[in-house]
Parts: sequence; structure tokens; C-alpha cells
Amino acid sequence: MDKTLLQDKITKLKKEKNAIILAHYYQRDEVQEIADFIGDSLALSIEASKTNASMIVFCGVKFMAETAKILSPDKKVLLPVLDAGCPLADMATAENVMKMKDEIGDASIVSYVNTNVDVKMISDICCTSANAINVVKSLESKKILFVPDKHLGAYVKRNVSDKEIYLFDGYCAVHDSFNKQDIENLLAKYPNAKVCVHPESPLEVIELADFVGSTAGIIKYCKESSVKEFIIATENGIVFELKKQLPNKVFYTLGTKAICVNMKKTTLKNVADALQNDIYEINLTDEQIEKARKPIERMIAIKRQ
Ligand code: SF4
Repeated sequence: MDKTLLQDKITKLKKEKNAIILAHYYQRDEVQEIADFIGDSLALSIEASKTNASMIVFCGVKFMAETAKILSPDKKVLLPVLDAGCPLADMATAENVMKMKDEIGDASIVSYVNTNVDVKMISDICCTSANAINVVKSLESKKILFVPDKHLGAYVKRNVSDKEIYLFDGYCAVHDSFNKQDIENLLAKYPNAKVCVHPESPLEVIELADFVGSTAGIIKYCKESSVKEFIIATENGIVFELKKQLPNKVFYTLGTKAICVNMKKTTLKNVADALQNDIYEINLTDEQIEKARKPIERMIAIKRQ
């Protein structure tokens, strides 16, 4: 089926099922095109929870669809591709996180939203790449176990001096592959460009940044800047939204190393099939929802302070 027919089918099914489609910024362009909301993972789940849709189709990876279910337990949440997972999230299990906590002693577990439900259930508080520093600063506890991304954790550690921060040894293979040389090569070619870096990247990359922040933060920075050229050190999918919002600006990426294969698994056909056949439904128990919701709500409360 060609693209237009698939898009028409999706629009029709969406209406029939009272569904909304969420797409993460890292999704394929054609998937972002048909989404009702495009954004980063937590913002999408919060946005979806405010709607009266009965069904959420989450074009992203599993932990994102789980978060949507946690925040909208009464809605049916679908992940169009069963094996669209996040290797970073999968590195941390409740078991290996608890083992580390036992070794450290009395520490608060701060988990990045990029974790599976079992890890959220044992976390004291969640954080995003945008609020991680503020979340850690807000805690009374002096000892913090930061899970699962060691680069985001190292960035937090650098910015919070009065706490003992222990880092779980996880990483996103996409951002972890970025290095100083990548940025220096691009800067040699485009010396006027500003460098925007996602904090899942190594510190040597962060050190070269003009702006460090989440996907939404990077978009905001590029919008507000008077500069016309930007080097974007995060997954390439974000450039679709950047070009849409800022057609007169130019964005340079880190090429093929900045592609998350899991994020690119979802196609328009998968979205149409998901809507047609109600697949693949995210099922969480009441206990999972209740326990995993608490650290997310604690984080949201801090954002409002
Ligand atoms: S870009 Fe990295 S953190 Fe995001 S889904 Fe892919 S592997 Fe996970």
C-alpha cells in the first residue's frame, strides 16, 4: 500500500477507535507526519493522559509505552512493534539495581525515565534528561544511585557537588558512540555552527557543547538562537522537527552513527496494523502501575516547585 493510502487508513481507524498517535522525535519522518503529538517520551505520556482518547498508539520504544500506560491506566496503550525496545533501559533490572544499592548502603535511587517498569517500581524518584540535575539537587539524601545512564549521571555529578553520586554502568549505544573528534571534525567544516548535545553523550562531547539538554531543549535552543547553523549531537530523527519549525536554519548531524535502530523499526504499516488489530497491547498489573507511578509523580511535583 502506498504512503497516502496508509495515511488515509490510519486517519480513518484513528477516528473509529478514538485513538491518538504519539511519536517520539527519533521516529521515522513519515511516522512523525501522522502523529497527533510529537515530543520526548515523558511529555508525550503526560499529554496523552490529558486527552479523552480511549487508545494510545505509542510510536517509540517499550519503556515509553509503559510510561504512557502508567499515567493513563484506563486507556488501551499499543506499541506497534513488539520488539522495539531500548537497550539502555534493558541494561538495568530491579535485581541488579537492588544489588548495587545494597553494596552502597543507604542511597536514594534516581532513575531516568528510560527504564523498564520493574526499575521504576523500586525507584525513589524518576528524572528526565531535562530535569535530572534539579531532581538530584532536590533530594535530602546525600547518597544517590543514578540509574541507568552513566553519561547522564556523570553530567549530573559534575553539576551537583554536595552529594555522593554512584553511577549504574549503563549507556545508550547511539550517544555513547559520539566522541570529541566527531564534533571537532564538524566544527572544522562549519566553524560558525553552535553545538547542541544530548547529555546521554560522553563528557568529552558535552565539554564542546554550546547547549546541553533534552530533545525538546535542543529544539527550543535552536529556535531562540540568532545563529543559523547547528551541530546536533543526538539521534537524527530530531532533524525532521527542527527543519519543520526552522526551515531557514541548517543542521549538521553525526551521520549514520546517530541512528537508533529500535526507534526506526516502526513504519506506517505497523501503525495501521496496530490500530486495526489492537496490537501490541501494554498490560501492566495494578501493583506495577501504582508503584511505578509514585516516582514519576514525585518528579512531576518537583518540576512545579
Ligand atoms: S536512542 Fe538510545 S536511549 Fe533512545 S531508545 Fe535508542 S537506545 Fe534507547
